[in-house]
Amino acid sequence: MHSIAVHGGAGTLARADLTPENDRAYRAGLERALRAGHTLLAEGGSAVNAVVTAVRVLEDDPLFNAGRGAVLAANGQHELDASLMDGRDLRAGAVTGVRHVRSPIELARLVMDRSPHVMLAGAGAEEFALEQGLTPVPNAHFATERRRRELDRMLQGQGESGREPLMGTVGAVARDGEGNLAAATSTGGMTGKKWGRVGDSPIIGAGTYAANDCCAVSATGHGEYFIRVAVAHEIASLMRYRGLGVEAAAEEVVMRQLVKLGGSGGVIAIGHDGRIAMPFNSEGMLRGAMDSSGRLETGLLRD
Ligand code: ASP
Repeated sequence: MHSIAVHGGAGTLARADLTPENDRAYRAGLERALRAGHTLLAEGGSAVNAVVTAVRVLEDDPLFNAGRGAVLAANGQHELDASLMDGRDLRAGAVTGVRHVRSPIELARLVMDRSPHVMLAGAGAEEFALEQGLTPVPNAHFATERRRRELDRMLQGQGESGREPLMGTVGAVARDGEGNLAAATSTGGMTGKKWGRVGDSPIIGAGTYAANDCCAVSATGHGEYFIRVAVAHEIASLMRYRGLGVEAAAEEVVMRQLVKLGGSGGVIAIGHDGRIAMPFNSEGMLRGAMDSSGRLETGLLRD
């Protein structure tokens, strides 16, 4: 049995903003990503290829805060973060603060496959992208009217970085037919973030983690809290050392540990048994799941 889950961010969409049109558009975007990853799994593809494929679909969709459509930092620039982990052997790749890489998750994959490192930052990451033959894009490639308005509102004091609904992120977790797990996450971070700020998304163990013996996790939410709780790895630890199932472990971290600190957001997680958990403590989390039994579901807010 193979399965995949994706998210398009927590706190991206307030209930008040949910019109029938954007309900359809967000669900269609999530479903495109699920189908792209699922098709690959159904053809015998690996979990790691499936999560990268699904995240790339979401990076290219301007509705979501990753790649095109990413939010703006306080200096008016897009600074993108991404990470990826292969549960087979715990190999991982991550990039942070990139400005000219069309698909940050593709670059994270190259860091994993073709460098001796796990994480590359800023100018060094851009240089590595050029060495690997990626064509740079101008920073304006990621720009949308909506994100410019959101930043302007925030700079005028009508919003606070980290408060809903100014976050977002995309991610995917998968289990392939051979039982291998993988997780991938990509983001523009938080609107109005300080130049150089790094959130949880590119940090292995915080925003992304995968290990075949327990689970694959991709997180979304107020990154500072997710780093402090080491969210993705904490879920894995609860499964490993306390023997919890993936639902109970994810629930404990998202609904208890994060809430205790005041950190809003959620995760998608797949257990080694293929079970999927998608808890969130925010008003909503754009999310979806699909598996070989025919399950296909998407959700936006708390039902
Ligand atoms: N976790 C991301 C960050 O802090 C933002 C998000 O998921 O909404 O950069």
